[in-house]
Amino acid sequence: MKQQVTVLGSTGSIGVNTLDVMARHPDRFAVHALTARRSVAALRDQCLLHEPRYAVMTDEAAAEELQRELAAAGSATTVLAGSAGLDEVAADPAVDVVMAAIVGAAGLPATLAAARAGKRVLLANKEALVMAGALFMSAVRDAGALLLPIDSEHNAIFQCLPVDDCARPGLAGVDRILLTASGGPFRAWDTARIAAATPDQACAHPNWSMGRKISVDSATLMNKGLELAEACWLFGVGPAQVTIVVHPQSVIHSLVQYRDGSVLAQLGNPDMRTPIAYGLGWPERLAAGVTPLDLFETARLDFEAPDEERFPCLRIAREAIAAGGTTMAACNAANEIAVAGFLEGAIGFMDIPAVIEETLARVRRVEPESLAVVEAADSEARQVAGEFMRARGRAALA
Ligand code: NAD
Ligand code: MG
Repeated sequence: MKQQVTVLGSTGSIGVNTLDVMARHPDRFAVHALTARRSVAALRDQCLLHEPRYAVMTDEAAAEELQRELAAAGSATTVLAGSAGLDEVAADPAVDVVMAAIVGAAGLPATLAAARAGKRVLLANKEALVMAGALFMSAVRDAGALLLPIDSEHNAIFQCLPVDDCARPGLAGVDRILLTASGGPFRAWDTARIAAATPDQACAHPNWSMGRKISVDSATLMNKGLELAEACWLFGVGPAQVTIVVHPQSVIHSLVQYRDGSVLAQLGNPDMRTPIAYGLGWPERLAAGVTPLDLFETARLDFEAPDEERFPCLRIAREAIAAGGTTMAACNAANEIAVAGFLEGAIGFMDIPAVIEETLARVRRVEPESLAVVEAADSEARQVAGEFMRARGRAALA
């Protein structure tokens, strides 16, 4: 029996890589559903190639257009519209595996629906854990879902920890987790140059090719702050048990240090098809089309401490994690607003941390006891961040 796979966010960078790995194993995987926000042409081409049962577009007008184009091409794929369609294809009883690869807070409800339905959840959408870690992890436990981290660092840590038959990682003998960071494109830049950085410079990551939002997060180091929260929820550790190590080559994807002095690491070329294949195949190893690592070509591995002065987002995230409650959900929301503003040219690069800090000083902190509470904290922070961002945009023009 083939595994039925839903790919949430199939037209994105992770989605495309997921379909690439799956297509190498047509005997093992069939595509149940593909989803996108509004890239009609990309989703149409994927549907014609992979023939899923369902295609979902969250944008209603885009869904109508896709429906017309697929009907004209004689496709048997059923088109669903809106975010209810995402929940439906994530929780469908016919589905075995859900790749959660929507970017941002928009991915949370469907990712949670997959966990609640007890699926094998391949988690790329780190924002789900950052916003609603307690809710999400208890949904995984209660429904007996298999949670496999796709974020390369967390996938590496998972590979270096003892794991039970249900993919639950343990901490026996573990001293600390060493979470690596590339340092992003501005690692060696001075403060003045960073402040003048353009969106294209921020998106030109030295080692990874990714979507624009996560690329900016890598440049501000907010990505590492989000990943610190993600690691704490996934592995049941506190932030004090995680050391962030800047490793510019991105060959070691993270490490685990044990009580006896052993340090285990996972290495490989920076290619997301490795963690994706690991998640799809676990506990087996599948061919992924990745170029094998050549250590002679790599030649050297460097390490340095992160600089929280030039990259204040890391400090802001650390403080938000310590504050608890809905603070990290608000931090994530403010970051999404600020990054979107930066990408549109409304604010400068260093306005990103400023907008987030101003927002966190203003919003209320509550206990994230339900999805509704988390979503309310998310929208409050978006609104407040939007006000601070517009004020900064106006100040820059004046
Ligand atoms: P991307 O921008 O390339 O793709 C995002 C996908 O989500 C697209 O299919 C898009 O149509 C869909 N989408 C966007 N907004 C949506 C909305 N509001 N509602 C429904 N669908 C929406 O993003 P990406 O780089 O592939 O990242 C996806 C997720 O994986 C993110 O959470 C990111 O942090 C995580 N991640 C990515 C990488 C990487 O290498 N790209 C590595 C680690 C983790
Ligand atoms: Mg990562």
